[in-house]
Amino acid sequence: MSNPHPTYEALTAHYTRLHRYGHLQAMAWWDQACNMPPKGQEARAAALAEVAALIHRMRTDPQLPQQFERAAQEPLDDAQRANLREMQREWQSDNALPEALVQAKTLATSRCEHAWRTQRPANDWHGFLENFRPVLRIAREEAALLSAQNGLRPYDALMDRYEPGMTSETVERVFGDLRQWLPGLIARVVERQSRERPIEAQGPFPKAAQRALSLELMALLHFDFEAGRLDESAHPFSGGVPEDVRLTTRYREDDFVQSLMGTIHETGHARYEQNLPRELLGQPVALARSMAIHESQSLSFEMQLARSPGFVELIAPLLRKHFGAQPAFEPGNLHRLLTRVEPGFIRVDADEVTYPAHVILRFEIERALIEGDIEAEDIPALWDEKMQSLLGVDTRGNYRDGCMQDVHWPEALFGYFPCYTLGAMYAAQWFATLRRGTPDLDARIASGDLAPVFDWLRDNIWLQGSRWTTDELAQRASGEPLNPAHFKSHLESRYLG
Ligand SMILES: [Zn+2]
Repeated sequence: MSNPHPTYEALTAHYTRLHRYGHLQAMAWWDQACNMPPKGQEARAAALAEVAALIHRMRTDPQLPQQFERAAQEPLDDAQRANLREMQREWQSDNALPEALVQAKTLATSRCEHAWRTQRPANDWHGFLENFRPVLRIAREEAALLSAQNGLRPYDALMDRYEPGMTSETVERVFGDLRQWLPGLIARVVERQSRERPIEAQGPFPKAAQRALSLELMALLHFDFEAGRLDESAHPFSGGVPEDVRLTTRYREDDFVQSLMGTIHETGHARYEQNLPRELLGQPVALARSMAIHESQSLSFEMQLARSPGFVELIAPLLRKHFGAQPAFEPGNLHRLLTRVEPGFIRVDADEVTYPAHVILRFEIERALIEGDIEAEDIPALWDEKMQSLLGVDTRGNYRDGCMQDVHWPEALFGYFPCYTLGAMYAAQWFATLRRGTPDLDARIASGDLAPVFDWLRDNIWLQGSRWTTDELAQRASGEPLNPAHFKSHLESRYLG
């Protein structure tokens, strides 16, 4: 019998090869971050640049569009059509920008990011501005080009790279609603918690004990150690490939919560990757759906599961085992420690209640920047005003802990921030669905039976890869597209219930 879809098969072979090069690239990158001696640095950078160039050439192969057209005429099933759709989406975004703009962007962002590393601690906003203006100019140009090509608004065109299908109209509606009730909720929670006096955990918490705890937690969360590992790096990340996921964390001996929650968060990302559809691995349709959906997995683990009273009961004995018994590890006390809410300057240190305020502020500012409504000079005043109205925090003159705190803008990652809070909202939606189907969920979690959580996530999210659009995925998993009401009731029941 002759092959009914030879062009489609040729395309899948091309993407499988790309996946294999990407595999080696990810491992070399992981090794560079975790193991490499300093004298290997220069040669490794050159080797990685060579592989990146090879991968870029393959991804932008000028033959591909004709092959897409021919493959579309072949008798394909629904999954194959979805794969073809994702191939085309990938190709379009890789080819949207002229080479000169890509180079200018690399240059401007690496200069800005490099200087930012010293300008931030020095609180040097004016120095930063010099390097940031060209980054913003290029990002606007990029947005205009993408917008002309796909018909989206300029900011939406940038956001589409991380969250396909999401529009600023939707984000505006969802965040606009959040803006109405969040500051009031924060105030009520802070007032209520001011009457609590949880017992602080007493350190130091030796690194070796924290690592042993991390590994035990990952096993509890069904991380597949035959298909991944945990290491240490200066900046924690999750990398590798679905067949071999590489997580990293870092340990502070005076505070075990950072590595504990960091590891649980990254394990959520890792389990998504480890459970993407195996038979299609290497194909665009087998990739994780989007950044918000990825974040919905890490936050399902870190916020929905790990900060639930049942899970805290499960980990209390593990803390006693690794750090010795102390009053702070009593489950009720531990839960209060892990759910403390405190408005602060820094996004990455924020709790789940105040975190969305940091994201709303960044979304409002970056969208106005990209659409040309404001200039880079206007950022600090807007930042101060929004921090005051959203969190009651005074950032005037404090650029370091204000508008210079994140690496996203120096790196031109405009459109990324909304994914964090959309992810938190999807995570709340997944758990609301799970609770409907498994009314005794919390009792089962407390008894150590986490299978209902993992089975649901595996069937509804992980195994679906990029088969559906994000809206379709949410609809199929939970019976509705994104519905932020679940996030609101989650926060109200956990913090005010
Ligand atoms: Zn994450």
